[in-house]
Formats: sequence, C-alpha cells, structure tokens
Amino acid sequence: MQIFESSAALQKQILELKNGSKKIKIGFVPTMGALHNGHLSLIKMALQSCDYVVCSIFVNPTQFNDKKDLEKYPRTLDSDLNMLKSAGCHAVFVPSESEVYPDDFKPENYFIEFDGLDQIMEGKFRPGHFKGVAMVVERLFQLVTPDQAFFGYKDFQQVAIIRKMVQKRDLSVQITGAPIIRESSGLAMSSRNQRLSETEKKKALIIHQTLLLGKEMASSEKSVNAIKNQMLANFENSDLQLEYIDIVDENSLEELTMINSNAICCIAAWCGDIRLIDNMSFAS
Ligand code: AMP
Repeated sequence: MQIFESSAALQKQILELKNGSKKIKIGFVPTMGALHNGHLSLIKMALQSCDYVVCSIFVNPTQFNDKKDLEKYPRTLDSDLNMLKSAGCHAVFVPSESEVYPDDFKPENYFIEFDGLDQIMEGKFRPGHFKGVAMVVERLFQLVTPDQAFFGYKDFQQVAIIRKMVQKRDLSVQITGAPIIRESSGLAMSSRNQRLSETEKKKALIIHQTLLLGKEMASSEKSVNAIKNQMLANFENSDLQLEYIDIVDENSLEELTMINSNAICCIAAWCGDIRLIDNMSFAS
C-alpha cells in the first residue's frame, strides 16, 4: 500500500497508471480517520468496481462548527493504516492542512447554493457544516482526480449535499452511496463511538431502537405526526438528549406529512458530549 502526503506524488502515480491504460478506474473513499468497519465497507465496495483505490485521511477543520469537537476528534493513524493495508486498499492520501488549503486558497470559490438541502436537520443544527464538507470534498476531488467516489448513507444528508455539489460543478466523478454498517447491538458504527463508554454505548442504543419502532409503525400507520409522536415518547425516558427526529423525502429532504415510498427517518442526539446520528428508510 502506497502512502502519499503530497498530492503531486499521488498525481504522478495516477498519471503513470492512466498512461499505462486509459481505462484504469480510480476509486476514492474520503475519511477523517479513526477507521472502523463502516469505512472498510466503502473500501471493499470501491475495490469491487475500481482498479486503484485511494482512501484519504484528513480531519477537515472547516466542517467543524464546534471547536471542541474538532480537538476531541479521535486520531488513530497507525491502526488506520494497518486496517487499510489488510483491506487491500492501494493508496492512502494523508495531506497536511496546507496541502488542502494552501495560502492562496479562496474559500469563496468553493461556496455553492444547496437549493435548501442544507436548511434542515444537520444543516439547521450545525451551521456552516455542509459548506465545509462540500468545500473539502471538491478540493479532495481536485487533488485525487477520482472516477468514482464512495460515501456512506450513515451521513444520509451529506450524500445528498455531495451529489448536489457534483451536479452544480458539473464534475465527472460518479457518486456511490453505501449502506450503514452497525455493531451487532444495532448501534451505527462511527468514529465518535470510540469516545463512548460501554454504559454510554448501551444508552445510545435508544437511537436504533426508536428507528426500528418508527419503521414498524410506518408499515401500517401513514401519518408522519402519529409516528413521530410515538418515537418522541419512546425517546423521552432515555438518557440521550434528542436534537431532531425528522421524516423526509430521500431525494428532496423535504419533511413529509404522509409515509410514502421515499420516506427516510433521520435522528440526531447527544450522548453526554458526543453527538450521534443515524437514519433508516421508512419506505412503504
Ligand atoms: P468520516 O470519517 O466520519 O468522515 O466518514 C467517512 C465515510 O465513511 C463517510 O462517507 C461516512 O458516511 C462513511 N461512514 C461512516 N460510518 C459509517 C457506517 N457506520 N456505515 C457506512 N458508512 C459509514
């Protein structure tokens, strides 16, 4: 497995591969490190459809609206590299901050209008977050030049934001979404779970349980209000602090009043000082 700190060296390698065969397909999995099986599922998916798979590890400061969250974000580079090597990843790109955002970098050149996709859920509770996400992903696409990039539906709204960015910028990279990988307990895997104690992990299961309860209800009850009320009631006795439960259209992300074939439920909640998100299709 090759490790690149500079995009020039990575580009040289990619050019060499492409000169050898124009048909070489470059797959890309952007991450912030502290890798787990959710990330590895993206690498495996990329390996199935691409010839050369690059994973980036970069904790992007511009997407953290909370400075403490950025400081506390887990960093486990050695174990990340071991995991990527075992998974068969071809290259890891570990850029410095100045590589991604050089002195002459103009953030305003990367701002885009998300047509409302950033006004609800994560966008509402984490102001500026998606601006930073779209900026770093576009920037990483410039540095890595992938043909196909892989993102987890764990961050459902993020996938919609990235598709919008690719469409608005008219980029030729194909965006592929991948299912949520969970612990056997049902807890959605997340780098932030590393900061949860065993007791907190048990408490955090309320998120998945509440999603399952809502999904079960949605198979017969079509009123979003009725379902949400039950879900909120289920959450009331938990130790987590709920930020939102929203049932939205999976394409427009607009709130639904009735369950339909595009319904998806997204939850964000705090377990102590750790913010967790999860989602589940309620389609019927
Ligand atoms: P992150 O390192 O948190 O920025 O995540 C990097 C990529 O991994 C993003 O596309 C995430 O959506 C994806 N990801 C994170 N957790 C999971 C999971 N449990 N299942 C599937 N994909 C995930």
